Amino acid sequence: MMPPQRSSSHIRTHLPPKILVSACLIGKRCSFKGNHHLDPAIRSLFDSGRAIAACPEELGGLGTPRQTSEIVGGDGSRVLAGKARVITRSQRDVTRQFVKGARMTLAIARDNKVRLAIFKTKSPSCGCGRIYDGTFSSRSKPGCGVTATLLLDRGIFVLNELDWERARRVSHRTFTDKHLKSYGK
Ligand code: SF4
Repeated sequence: MMPPQRSSSHIRTHLPPKILVSACLIGKRCSFKGNHHLDPAIRSLFDSGRAIAACPEELGGLGTPRQTSEIVGGDGSRVLAGKARVITRSQRDVTRQFVKGARMTLAIARDNKVRLAIFKTKSPSCGCGRIYDGTFSSRSKPGCGVTATLLLDRGIFVLNELDWERARRVSHRTFTDKHLKSYGK
């Protein structure tokens, strides 16, 4: 007798959930200077097919290289509420591009059923926990960037790469599929 066929939906529910990572963390040269911030452990998640990558600022239409930008007057949640702006060092208002990039990144996350994002710390887009303070002086303050805030608001768990590394050390090895599945559903 032929074994029962598994439906495609059955197979899908047993795949580990995808993780969304900042594209610069897998080595893409998409930072404002055209550099990357390669994190080998995060790159290996991408190479194994567990992670997808996106750069919200490129998705929002800002080219690379581009002027550095910071949130002035608050954090990502105030930008999304229309109460703070994202400004380049030369005072160009790029709020619209940052919000567009956040929405496009959220759409990618939803299309891929992402439940966990690992994002670059301090970025006005990806930052989670700390962001630059809006004075272009390399100082940071508590808060999240525009994209990180939008994903958090929509129920996606967001870690910065430093917290991810600490979590890996606590578990003494790379997160297993069991850990990753705990972010699923
Ligand atoms: S927007 Fe995010 S992914 Fe793009 S360069 Fe900045 S931190 Fe990296």
